[in-house]
Amino acid sequence: MLIDLHCHTKVHSACSALTPEALVRAAQARGLAGVCITEHDALWSLEAIERVAAEMDFLVLRGMEVTTEVGHVLVFGARDHHPAMATLDELRLRVRDDGALMYLAHPSRRYGTMPPDDLSSYFDSVEVQNGTEGMLQNDQAVHLARNLRLPGIGGSDSHSVREVGVCATEFESIVRDERSFVGALRAGAYRARRV
Ligand SMILES: [Zn+2]
Ligand SMILES: [Zn+2]
Repeated sequence: MLIDLHCHTKVHSACSALTPEALVRAAQARGLAGVCITEHDALWSLEAIERVAAEMDFLVLRGMEVTTEVGHVLVFGARDHHPAMATLDELRLRVRDDGALMYLAHPSRRYGTMPPDDLSSYFDSVEVQNGTEGMLQNDQAVHLARNLRLPGIGGSDSHSVREVGVCATEFESIVRDERSFVGALRAGAYRARRV
């Protein structure tokens, strides 16, 4: 099942033009099975995410895109967001207790000076298909992912309807909720796709 793992809505990302309803309708039009809303430095409450999912009768998951000193980090399975997460060490400390996974987003854009060898000590993997990046940048990300413990993920990084679902992640197992989503990520049974 194809899920777009990187989407912003105007609910918590001021830069996005998308309402959750428009996001879901665009994902359905593209033939996706689900979306994951990853707002900038904010996490939806589980109740609010489940309300949208029930109203739209569609799989809607949550993550967050945290801004750190080395770049944007996609986090899945965390229970909350805290401003101290802007420091990579603090982010890792706080989300690892939740059993969350960390992926470096659009790694060609990272603005810190982290040597590639250090990536695996912080990240489970990287985003290898980002809808707003060029082919060259995504190819560089694929190269980076080879040394990490999990496959790279794909997501559109959509802020508008036409961007939704241009990249996504294909899961081998059924994802029904946050628990099965995080479990499938941890199992590494997925691959990034440009749709
Ligand atoms: Zn980003
Ligand atoms: Zn983003």
